[in-house]
Amino acid sequence: FKVPTPYNEPSREFRPGSPEAASVKKAIAEVTSSVRDLPHVINGERSMTGELRNVVAPHRHSQVLGRIPTADETVIQAAIDAALAAQHDWSRTPWWERAAIFLRAGDLAAGKYRDELVATTMLGQSKTFHQAEIDAASEVADFFRYNAHLAQQIFSDQPAALQGEGNTLDQRGLEGFVLAITPFNFTAIASNLPTTAALMGNVVVWKPSEKSALSNDVLMRMFEEAGLPPGVINLIHGSGRAISDYAMAHPDFAGLNFTGSTDVFRSLWKKTGEHIDQYRSFPRLVGETGGKNAVVAHPSADTGAVRASLIRSAFEYSGQKCSAASRTYLPRSVWNVIKDELIETTKSLRVGDVVEHETFTGAVIDETSLRKLEAAIEKAKGLESHTLLAGGNVHPEEGWFVEPTIFETTDPHAFTMSEEFFGPLLTVYVYEDNEWESVLDLVDQTSNYALTLSIFANDRRAISLALDKLRNASGMTYVNDKPTGALMGQVSFGGGRASGTNDKTGSRLALQRWLSGRFIHENF
Ligand code: GLU
Repeated sequence: FKVPTPYNEPSREFRPGSPEAASVKKAIAEVTSSVRDLPHVINGERSMTGELRNVVAPHRHSQVLGRIPTADETVIQAAIDAALAAQHDWSRTPWWERAAIFLRAGDLAAGKYRDELVATTMLGQSKTFHQAEIDAASEVADFFRYNAHLAQQIFSDQPAALQGEGNTLDQRGLEGFVLAITPFNFTAIASNLPTTAALMGNVVVWKPSEKSALSNDVLMRMFEEAGLPPGVINLIHGSGRAISDYAMAHPDFAGLNFTGSTDVFRSLWKKTGEHIDQYRSFPRLVGETGGKNAVVAHPSADTGAVRASLIRSAFEYSGQKCSAASRTYLPRSVWNVIKDELIETTKSLRVGDVVEHETFTGAVIDETSLRKLEAAIEKAKGLESHTLLAGGNVHPEEGWFVEPTIFETTDPHAFTMSEEFFGPLLTVYVYEDNEWESVLDLVDQTSNYALTLSIFANDRRAISLALDKLRNASGMTYVNDKPTGALMGQVSFGGGRASGTNDKTGSRLALQRWLSGRFIHENF
């Protein structure tokens, strides 16, 4: 068995009237023709046990798409029991058989399940055709193909042996179960976190965000069709707190694969500390959390590239990417060139129903998010240091719509330059052209997040200085490119400081975290 050389699954274009648009619209009609039950899946068995809650479309919140149950302790315990019961056989399944299952899942994501994944991601997570396609079709498939290839490298790595002796590295999964907690904003991340651990031989309890339950239900069916045995990944819905409180107090809790907010990750880390005396092993904690990502331009920068990258990275998917740009540092000369067009373009971005082709971005995920953004915008409007340049309103009547919003600030230490809002809110700080060096210090010191960063410059010395001064300010530094849209095979993804444990999705490291090796030295 040899894992095929991985490649990036091409994304379809979805021009109005194209066959791919027609087939996704058909899938959308199918999804909206009924209210779907989105059950727990434990040991391959589906149940709607527990209080039922509605899943709605963020851009049309009167539209109920599905219902999810709420796990109580009996359900959580059943998911843990199912995982532990599956562990013996799954952990002894050769890695290539496990990889073959996930490679099949990749083909299903790119093929049979493609339109349903895109449709459910559009409806449930309010993504446009394009944003849903690059996530739920292309990146889901990419993760499976690249991870299988990386797994082959890892498992092929064996220590040297002398004649008459055997040296073997037995690459075991962790003893116990892994808890995967996944976010709403990428169907690809939801698919990746439980399966990365499972690929390496682990058994998993998976708690997805309730906001993405519609597409995550499709993923679960797809894993099963690909041949994943019952019990290896057990999906349960419910309160994140209730599930983590219970599961992380269990002696067999072996690891956490998490993407979400910095605050929640910190609380989970503390919870692990509280229970440290009960565990059989020291749990592995892997987290990808927040960002306050900067686009920093030098006076030599290509102004058109800066402007285009700001629009895309701050406002695509309404800024709901950990990697989104939300603060920018522009020299006065660049600002004078791009200001008017940046404002005009931002005002012209169409916010609305994602099924319409002209829509640039849909709604933010829920009312909590809209209200948080509204409060931040109102607070900034009230500051003397801030000038509202575009947007500034929310429209909650039909959907949770937030206008792409730009502030200019004269205060580089303002809350808009340091706090993450997870929405379409960009703040511009204009510096004098001769202040490059000191502006780099500002970028480094204003926020404690360190996820993505873009530097725009056409001056090698300016780039070198920025790379040096901002060495710890990001996990991914893009030079003359936007900070969003990391592509498997090119950029491995993860950040430091308050942005996470930097275990780099898309690299061997992300897989190795789920292994605990046993060394066997034999004279026989
Ligand atoms: N991988 C995505 C990107 O590069 C961001 C992932 C996230 O939001 O966590 O834009």
